[in-house]
Amino acid sequence: MKYDVAVIGGGIVGLATAYQITRLYPRKSVVLLEKEDKVATHQTGRNSGVIHSGIYYTPGSLKAENCREGRRALIDFCQAHDITYDICGKVIVAVEESEVDRLNNILARGQQNGINCRLIDADELRELEPHCSGIKGIHVPEAGIVDYVGVSTTLSRLINEHGCDVRTKFSVVGLAVDNNSVVVESSSGENVSADSIVNCAGLYADKIAKMSGDVPDIQVVPFRGEYYDLTPEARHLCKNLIYPVPDPAYPFLGVHFTRMHDGRVECGPSAIVAFAREGYTFGTVNIRELSEILTYQGFLRLSAKHWKKGISEIRQSLSKKYYLKVLQRLIPEVRLEDLREAPAGVRAQALRKDGTMVDDFLIKKKGRIINVYNAASPAATASLNIGKVIARYTETDAAA
Ligand SMILES: Cc1cc2nc3c(=O)[nH]c(=O)nc-3n(C[C@H](O)[C@H](O)[C@H](O)COP(=O)(O)OP(=O)(O)OC[C@H]3O[C@@H](n4cnc5c(N)ncnc54)[C@H](O)[C@@H]3O)c2cc1C
Repeated sequence: MKYDVAVIGGGIVGLATAYQITRLYPRKSVVLLEKEDKVATHQTGRNSGVIHSGIYYTPGSLKAENCREGRRALIDFCQAHDITYDICGKVIVAVEESEVDRLNNILARGQQNGINCRLIDADELRELEPHCSGIKGIHVPEAGIVDYVGVSTTLSRLINEHGCDVRTKFSVVGLAVDNNSVVVESSSGENVSADSIVNCAGLYADKIAKMSGDVPDIQVVPFRGEYYDLTPEARHLCKNLIYPVPDPAYPFLGVHFTRMHDGRVECGPSAIVAFAREGYTFGTVNIRELSEILTYQGFLRLSAKHWKKGISEIRQSLSKKYYLKVLQRLIPEVRLEDLREAPAGVRAQALRKDGTMVDDFLIKKKGRIINVYNAASPAATASLNIGKVIARYTETDAAA
């Protein structure tokens, strides 16, 4: 069958894109192709479930703009479709003097981004989070939590109800581009064709782009985020969301405490290079994918610069006691017996050849193909707006 648009990837970005196409261009025929037997099984279904406020991002960046607009759209969407969410607010906590300058920088950036946030002292911090130790903090009332799998399955249902197709167990293995269309080949031998393609394949976005003949100037590198859950008896230690002051050298926010929409409290995620793109445990190794990572110039340069951080992440992964120490910086009362291993997630992080991580969302259009190369956090929060932006790209020849 021939469609106007085929979206590859049934994570929240692909789903939001297909949904926004049905809303902006209701006459277009759309198919969404997902390799797993259901949607939201990778990054989207394994994330922290946080609605980010947009405090951290460079003013004017795609992350800052899409997070602000996407957050509003996400809340409206949850209200309209009865999806669990809670704008519970969060605190970012400095535990020692050396972190206060960085905390102030985050506050200034948040204010530039128009985020409602303010500096709080240790007493106010303890009123908000009685078990958290810190000398200063930022309170961000606009942050919250949400059921991203619920958002994704609702998007999938709405796409179907509009008369478009969501096809699971459709693993894309090839793209044949000609003057009139693109033929999308699946591992089962079944093909679909479309006028244009949107590649939202997350951890495999660069691979899909290569299938279309493109030579991306980035490679997706998988960073596993390992989590522990607090046992039910220890959940009272965290009321809402408690974050450390992040290290500006990395795009990750640091191990934090997150109250989830289902009442659990998650601790994490760490950020360790995974030995497979979908390597959810330390022992999961895909030799081909691992060798692609280890021989990539960008990765070698990154490792040469940040090897100390890498070793610390490996220690954290291998030793629960070491992980606990990191958590105790924020909540000293947490004990080893309060922590239960929880499923990990793997982030798709685009890395340039020069070893720098792509800090912003990266979306490029080339001919009939729109490639979403970097949709890292806060892309779940921002998804409904990113989807709208990409939907518009399907109508224009402008390079994204
Ligand atoms: C540990 C972790 C914590 C995070 N926390 C947050 C948070 O709290 N808040 C927030 O806003 N963001 C968070 N993020 C980021 C957010 O989850 C991602 O930015 C977002 O989910 C990306 O969505 P996606 O659709 O691009 O990718 P994915 O959800 O990974 O979806 C990509 C899909 O493409 C499919 N696919 C891949 N290859 C093929 C193929 N060949 N054929 C067909 N289908 C294919 C995959 O099966 C997958 O379903 C977090 C991410 C992680 C990993």
